[in-house]
Amino acid sequence: MIHTGGTLVMRPREGRGALTAEGLTADLLAELPVLKQVAEIETRLLFQLDSSDMQPENWVELAGVIHGSLDKYDGVVIVHGTDTMAYTASALAFLLPGLDRPVVLTGAQKPLFAVRTDARTNLIDACQVATLAVPEVGITFHSTLLRGCRATKMDAWGMDAFGSPSCPPLAELGLGVHLAGHVLPPRPAQPFDPRIEPRVLAVRTFPGLEPRLLQGALTSGVRGMVIEAFGAGNVPRLTRSLIPVIDTARGLDVPVVIVSQCPRGNVDLSAYEGGSAAEAAGAISAGDMTAEAALAKLMITLGRATGGRVQAARDAFAAALVGEMTPR
Ligand code: ASP
Repeated sequence: MIHTGGTLVMRPREGRGALTAEGLTADLLAELPVLKQVAEIETRLLFQLDSSDMQPENWVELAGVIHGSLDKYDGVVIVHGTDTMAYTASALAFLLPGLDRPVVLTGAQKPLFAVRTDARTNLIDACQVATLAVPEVGITFHSTLLRGCRATKMDAWGMDAFGSPSCPPLAELGLGVHLAGHVLPPRPAQPFDPRIEPRVLAVRTFPGLEPRLLQGALTSGVRGMVIEAFGAGNVPRLTRSLIPVIDTARGLDVPVVIVSQCPRGNVDLSAYEGGSAAEAAGAISAGDMTAEAALAKLMITLGRATGGRVQAARDAFAAALVGEMTPR
């Protein structure tokens, strides 16, 4: 069990209401001895962060620790804040493609010390899932196991914080555990590759988005862009057209990847003129990937690109590597 922080282990700071990850409860086995009935657990404190402070470098360090010790354990549980859990889960999925056992992230909407906490159930469920034949990076939350690179935080209030709108859950935890048929088979271990390129920009299109702001980003060193486009992947092409930006990006060998800002559904760049024009200017469809997964995949792909960046992204987004998108 690797601790990175998050609400699950937080307590309010002395004299102030805000929850803090400093001085967090790291000894969850002492707090929740029942966990020892689920599995034989070793704990390790890696970070003490509110997950809004997680950075790509933290993903790589976490993945490296898991990669280096995975053969000693049947599975790994990562205690993590919910805010960026879907980003970390996506990054881990791409950084650890050769999994033969589970890596499960969990957290809570209310801290373990709170009376109405969801931490207890989530932790017990995550530990249980970590003992099962699920060789994937998953998120266990609210009695459900989701594929990490398909999950997104949908709710900042309710206990059912995560959804996976384009991929059914990998498991449901009720009276027993139901494993779904689409759990990936075990994959052979691969050497760890820590390279990552954080200079990626994600932008949500909206009426009024000023293309000059994106042109400015391109000239200030952006190496890749994820555009969260409308509907099936449409961007403005008349007033404040984004097409010249996409074209400029291609000229600078900066890949532009398109996801939909709709939580569910597929990008189809041929469906409307806004998408077709983007595609003709060089944009790359990410199918039904989440914005989180597309961002992580682009950062990792660019970190490893030795030749052209656009071609590397085009190759990477042509197919799913770890179940992150539905085959087109
Ligand atoms: N801000 C917290 C975090 O992401 C929220 C949570 O854990 O639910 O670390």
